[in-house]
Amino acid sequence: MSNTPIPFLDLVTPHVELQAELTAVFQKAITTGGFIGGPMVTGFEEAFAKYCDAKHCVGVGSGTDALRFAFMAGGIGAGDIIVTVPHTFIATTEAISQCGARPVFVDIEEKTCTMDVAKLQAFLETKCEYQAESRQLIHTATGERVAGIVPVHIYGQMADMDPIMELAERFNLMVVEDACQAHGATYFSKRDNRWRTAGSMGHAGAFSFYPGKNLGACGEAGATVTNDDKLAAGMKMIRDHGQKQKYYHSIEGYNGRLDAIQAGILGVKLEKMPEWTKQRQDAAARYETLLADSGARLPQVAEGRTAVWHLYVVRVADRDGLMKALGAVGIGTGIHYPIPLHLQEAYKGMGYQEGDFPVTERVAREIVSLPMFPQLRAEQQERVAVEVKKFVLAGAAPAAAAAN
Ligand SMILES: *Cc1c(COP(=O)(O)O)cnc(C)c1O
Repeated sequence: MSNTPIPFLDLVTPHVELQAELTAVFQKAITTGGFIGGPMVTGFEEAFAKYCDAKHCVGVGSGTDALRFAFMAGGIGAGDIIVTVPHTFIATTEAISQCGARPVFVDIEEKTCTMDVAKLQAFLETKCEYQAESRQLIHTATGERVAGIVPVHIYGQMADMDPIMELAERFNLMVVEDACQAHGATYFSKRDNRWRTAGSMGHAGAFSFYPGKNLGACGEAGATVTNDDKLAAGMKMIRDHGQKQKYYHSIEGYNGRLDAIQAGILGVKLEKMPEWTKQRQDAAARYETLLADSGARLPQVAEGRTAVWHLYVVRVADRDGLMKALGAVGIGTGIHYPIPLHLQEAYKGMGYQEGDFPVTERVAREIVSLPMFPQLRAEQQERVAVEVKKFVLAGAAPAAAAAN
């Protein structure tokens, strides 16, 4: 029993628990022939918009499409710059490039691993010039228009949205929240004097329903939420070949719709989200107690935010050693993410180099994601903690010795 493997993520248990309801979705689709669009899609979109405290939800094929369609509906394209962080999954910047724009990075802050607002402000104020007549912010070195900001709510904690929205208003920029890891996360907005939900604060918020996300489909899916009627209408056209009415194409769009079967499945699983999120939060609190004196640097949540713990990420000096030691006793781990985007081979041509984003680079060297999923049990976490302590407290001891 004590050496039963502990997976990094369990994608079987929640689906087996919901098997009857999930199978009923499939049966409904095959007996009605409703595979694309229809009540299962609109039903889920309504429910998810409500969950996010947003006016509209537009279901699409993936989180990447959710980001890309939001930029396109916002009029961002070739010749534009979108500012984001290098500490994220590459889909964030793929979506920027694929709408025709160019990603530019600013570093993250150490405490939350989200966008450093001071760095964002420094970039906007010192590297760009605001042209009041055209209400455009121009990147001084290249003459490109800075059109948007993508804060990434990494690991399930929202970025510092109030000052980001203030800067966006000052410089007339579109904000698209990358909320792909943050379904249901919240932030107390001092400007609005109320709690706000991830995805509903920016002009649009993009979500992924990749199976491993907090809300996951049984396949690929995503959605964008927005309070803006025009953006919602634009994204609905873009996801469906640029048509409002069948075969009347106002623009050239994409095949980027959300499948009815996936929407039905997501609707079933959405009802479990309050419970699953609470279980993740309880598990994070338990790790915090168990690992308090472990020597590992634990994740921190800023005041006025509630995290939904997509990942539980600790930092240690010998990250590879810790992963090896945990792996040796059957404990699954991950790294999110090992290579900062500005140092990826794909982005060699961007002109960045090592040292450009020191916080991101340091974090990337030290992070390990421990097992985290709603069904994770207390005794499994206790075992993880024992093994982490054994390794970290052993300090310079070689990984092999610490593992036993
Ligand atoms: C998962 C993820 C995406 C992309 O979602 P897909 O559904 O895989 O396209 C984008 N950004 C972040 C931060 C993610 O974690």
